Amino acid sequence: MTYTTKWATEKLNKNEIAKLSKDGLTVFDDFPNIIKQPWEEIPKDYYMYFKYAGLTVQKPQSDGKFMLRVKVPAGIITVDQAKMLAKLGAERGGGFLDITTRQSVQYHNIKFAELLNTFSEIEAVGLTTRGAEGDINRNVIGNPLAGIDRFELFDATPTLLKVHNFFQDNTDYSNLPRKFKISISTSSVNSANAEINDLAFLPATKAINGRIYKGFAIKVGGGLGAKPYLGKYLNLFIKPSQVVKVAEAVVKIYRDNGYRRSRSNARLKFLIDDWGIDKFTDELLEITGPLATSGKNLTKYWSNGLVLGIHPQRQRGYSYIGVSVPTGRIAAEDLATFAAIAAQYGRDEIRFDHSQNLLLPFIKNTDLAEIITHPIFDKFPIETSRFQDFGMTCTGNEYCNLAYTSTKDISRDLLWYLDEEFQLTQPIRIVLTGCMNACAHRNIADIGIQGMAARDKNRQPIEAFSIAIGGTLLNDGHFNETLKGKVPKAILLPVIKDLVSFYVNDKLENETFFDF
Ligand code: SF4
Repeated sequence: MTYTTKWATEKLNKNEIAKLSKDGLTVFDDFPNIIKQPWEEIPKDYYMYFKYAGLTVQKPQSDGKFMLRVKVPAGIITVDQAKMLAKLGAERGGGFLDITTRQSVQYHNIKFAELLNTFSEIEAVGLTTRGAEGDINRNVIGNPLAGIDRFELFDATPTLLKVHNFFQDNTDYSNLPRKFKISISTSSVNSANAEINDLAFLPATKAINGRIYKGFAIKVGGGLGAKPYLGKYLNLFIKPSQVVKVAEAVVKIYRDNGYRRSRSNARLKFLIDDWGIDKFTDELLEITGPLATSGKNLTKYWSNGLVLGIHPQRQRGYSYIGVSVPTGRIAAEDLATFAAIAAQYGRDEIRFDHSQNLLLPFIKNTDLAEIITHPIFDKFPIETSRFQDFGMTCTGNEYCNLAYTSTKDISRDLLWYLDEEFQLTQPIRIVLTGCMNACAHRNIADIGIQGMAARDKNRQPIEAFSIAIGGTLLNDGHFNETLKGKVPKAILLPVIKDLVSFYVNDKLENETFFDF
């Protein structure tokens, strides 16, 4: 929608000027023609529109290859969808795919000439790339254990899918100042990382006229990156039937009032920081009409959306198996194997968590002894207490234009090295990103490592990192704090080893890294 807001008469950044005359989702109308042009003739100004199709032009940009992200609402796919995702990785993605921190998947090296066929195959199994990137509502995330969780208030997946369907292809909300992230979970362990989303729904109950209602508390204005903010509670209780209305109202406020002058302060968090929660709540109620004041919030802990190992489900007789996928990168043939296991033993379902892993739900307890003898579990051990099981990492300079450093290879070396050196008794989350952004959640990691530009003593460019410690989303969250100095790549492993040694040698029994 190329509507006119008050911003149409004020100074706008380059992307905003372009969006006023051409909406991002029109990229799909362009594809049949644009695909016929030689890649070199596609103007660079057009690259921003590829984002709305889930595409980022990879480096080197002259190659005409893309990172392609597929949305997976609630992180749940069927066996057929998993097979297609594996096939796509094998045939067009260099034999692998990456699981993201928003329960989605992404590919690299997708060729310009193959885009239309790729979209057709993805849409044929009911998945989409529409709005996987761009200034639009992104993949709506949820509790990876929704519906099978012993610690959730109720299954919020139907509500989540209503929100996804409302915003999907909705051109009233396809021109936002920047991306918009929603999480919806009723897990008591904050399994969908509420505080780092623009809008989050968390479990709550409320007594109204003598009846106890199950519903949601909400937080707004969270987000990571160079200037991270933690989402703040609004004094509201939302019934499940009100969630779409409230989500629309929040996005409408953002669409019409969010900052469009500079992209670096365009996220909702900056508007809320300026307005304050009271003004924001007044604006919200102006649109929705009266809502109940907050009830009893039920969030008690933080799981980081991490679901590893074998655990009983809410359904008697069934368990789920959370599979650690170190660095989030999985070979296409391994995903195909997990799809076959899900087809044989599960209930037509594979899920993704928020820490770049996958899980197989609805495994009969009586099948567990047999299933764990499958050779795939030699490669993906079910016992998960290693650094590599708790680490996360973004794409890095292998494919990302913004990265200062590589990431997956460094993370692999580092985490494998630490696993050789230490026996973990409490998880330590080490998250590595290639720049100040936070496509992996470095700001809330026990140890967050960020790639930076640096020079050696001869003024030659080198890869280097800043290190921050002590992040968590426990008790409403706390970002990690950056230590002084930059660490050259050459000494990153011993420096992190020393840091971990302090904790391992001096911690009290059961003391977590954050408490230490
Ligand atoms: Fe690229 Fe930075 Fe995101 Fe990593 S965090 S994928 S380097 S933008």
